[in-house]
Amino acid sequence: MKDRYFSETPLSGESVTLQGSEAHHLLHVMRAEPGLEVVVFDGLGGEWSAEIACLGRAEVELTLQEHAAIERENSAEISLAVPLPKGDRQRWLIEKCVELGVTHLIPLTTARSTKNSAEASAKLTRYVIEASKQCGRNRLMQIEQPQSWSTLAACGLAPLRVLAHPNGAPLSEIETGDSVLLAVGPEGGFTDTEISLAVESNWQVVSLGERILRIETAALAMVSQWVLR
Ligand code: SAM
Repeated sequence: MKDRYFSETPLSGESVTLQGSEAHHLLHVMRAEPGLEVVVFDGLGGEWSAEIACLGRAEVELTLQEHAAIERENSAEISLAVPLPKGDRQRWLIEKCVELGVTHLIPLTTARSTKNSAEASAKLTRYVIEASKQCGRNRLMQIEQPQSWSTLAACGLAPLRVLAHPNGAPLSEIETGDSVLLAVGPEGGFTDTEISLAVESNWQVVSLGERILRIETAALAMVSQWVLR
């Protein structure tokens, strides 16, 4: 597989100029030369084969060759609401969600979640881009605005809404669908009031097994079980 680069500018026409960290990587890590063949994508779908035309001090111009309408998405659209853990665990969670094909990630605040755990939005987007380059995804996972559980639980955005809780039913008993909203609670768990609100709002409550999983493990176990159904 050729090295993949992300263009913040939507791709069309005959060429594109990469700047910022993408150009830095080609110039100073890869020490690329004109003529090197790469793949470039803009996160809006599909990818282009491209060749380095010229190198500047801080930018790289690519000649666009052929567009391939290649997608590596799941058949189901998966939104995941989860309180973001801190530091490396946050990065790891975002990276794995991209790899597993989550389409929308909603940072969740609940009664027991710790505050201000989301890093700056540009940093989260950078994690998404790096993971997409690595795993071959051509559409970027969208990181939504943080939402409180009280708002999210009561809103009927997705027809199918599934909440992870140790007292729930096995995930295999839940109906499947083209679009699902999955939710995972904070380290301290959802409160009884939050669980009641979910049940009143027609969320289905599922167990992920006998052991108590940390936030990121629960999120990835839930997403991967959903993808593999
Ligand atoms: N003591 C908390 C409780 O009982 O809910 C543990 C919280 S756990 C560290 C964080 C979140 O992961 C939970 O709110 C739940 O959404 C999910 N989770 C962890 N283990 C789970 C399991 N075995 N089944 C279902 N959900 C689980």
